Amino acid sequence: MSTPTPPFKETIVKCPTCGNDAVYGPGNPYRPFCREACKMIDLGAWATEVYRVPAPDTDPLSDLDEPDRR
Ligand SMILES: [Zn+2]
Repeated sequence: MSTPTPPFKETIVKCPTCGNDAVYGPGNPYRPFCREACKMIDLGAWATEVYRVPAPDTDPLSDLDEPDRR
């Protein structure tokens, strides 16, 4: 059984973000995601964790630097 493989064959894949069917082909610029929002979420996932890190040391540190500010 010989199946010719065209260069631009569209494939349905699972979107890594939401798990919905996403077209993996030239018609979908956001592949392998299903839409732009899912792509942005995935790209911003690491950045979100960076911003989620709280900085409690900043407050007491500046307080030690200038106790007179209180
Ligand atoms: Zn999606």
